[in-house]
Amino acid sequence: MKIENPNPFQWHFAERASQMQSSFIREILKVTQQPEIISFAGGLPSPATFPVEIMKEAFDKVLSDSGKVALQYGPTDGYLPLRQWIADSLSTGGAKIVPEQVLMVSGSQQALDLLGKVLIDEGSKVLVETPSYLGALQAFSVYRPNFVSVDTDDDGLVPSSLHDVAAGARLLYALPNFQNPTGRTLSVARRHELVETCARLNLPLIEDDPYGALSYKGDPLPKMVAMNPDGVIYMGSFSKVLTPGIRLGYVVAPLAMVRRLELAKQAADLHTSQLTQMVVHHVIKDGFLEKHIPTIRTLYGDQCQVMLDAMAEHFPAGVSWTKPEGGMFIWVTLPKHINAMELLDEAIKQKVAFVPGSPFYANEPQTNTLRLSFVTVPPERIRAGVAILAKLIADRM
Ligand code: PMP
Repeated sequence: MKIENPNPFQWHFAERASQMQSSFIREILKVTQQPEIISFAGGLPSPATFPVEIMKEAFDKVLSDSGKVALQYGPTDGYLPLRQWIADSLSTGGAKIVPEQVLMVSGSQQALDLLGKVLIDEGSKVLVETPSYLGALQAFSVYRPNFVSVDTDDDGLVPSSLHDVAAGARLLYALPNFQNPTGRTLSVARRHELVETCARLNLPLIEDDPYGALSYKGDPLPKMVAMNPDGVIYMGSFSKVLTPGIRLGYVVAPLAMVRRLELAKQAADLHTSQLTQMVVHHVIKDGFLEKHIPTIRTLYGDQCQVMLDAMAEHFPAGVSWTKPEGGMFIWVTLPKHINAMELLDEAIKQKVAFVPGSPFYANEPQTNTLRLSFVTVPPERIRAGVAILAKLIADRM
């Protein structure tokens, strides 16, 4: 979606600025924030899960005990006790991650920009899943890469398909857990295969994992960074397990790489809020997330099931969808002739919104796909919204 009236003064913008596109999702969010709309469009976590009181107490405590430090400029790499906590939590299965490998960022979205800055030249080959996270495509696009799509199926990215496309690539961007947008999970066998393949090809593997903790049943699957800390760049976030408004994420990379990212961050914003990092550390240091995350998993898991049941009841034959085991999204594939963008126009008239799938494709969009999120919609409205969508789809069959 182009910016309206992009240049009323005829100023000479940089080439990259004239190419910038607003995220399609952010545009439809403007429409869907009207309360009468049943919105399956947002990727927002449910505010019902935000620990407001706990955050309030923590801000108070940090400001009372260490206000002068918390309100001062801080180091670019971040607040050491929090980096230590992150390094320890990722040191699983025999892997040893050290705090020096952890760079705190202002939301993991910033990590995408920094990675683009450090790894991508104009025309560089960048490997992405089909489909992939729109915000990553947007962040990398600024550096004008040549996106090459890697095949995916129900088990996520297909590692063997890398052989045909990896020559000369600067990075592979992968979303192993409850992928945005499809909700798919990369199988354990494929994680090992992917890590080995990337190591053999000397290809930096970016593991973007904001949803990893949100599995509905069972323990989260092993992280690729723990399989090979020297070959994987891991991105984590507090947005989906605590709150997104604090804008706190992290990137974990081999030492030589993290230093470059740190320099890029220095130029971008000096550092991420020291106050926020100290507050988050105070909140999580004694095991708060172990109690809190299960409440998010239950809420999202229950609402996902409501949506899946409603889809099974109402959607006509010929429509298929993913059955996520965690996270926030379901991906729907309509019969080939139905264009989800056109369906959205009709759906909005009937007060239901979703995100059409096309913007999630770096190349050759499949126009018959769409993403549904269920986390902020109560069960009754999920059922009502799915029934309306089903009717609109059936009318086009
Ligand atoms: N990666 C993925 C896959 C996401 O879905 C998001 C948020 N929607 C982000 C990164 C960015 O998250 P944040 O900046 O809030 O950490």
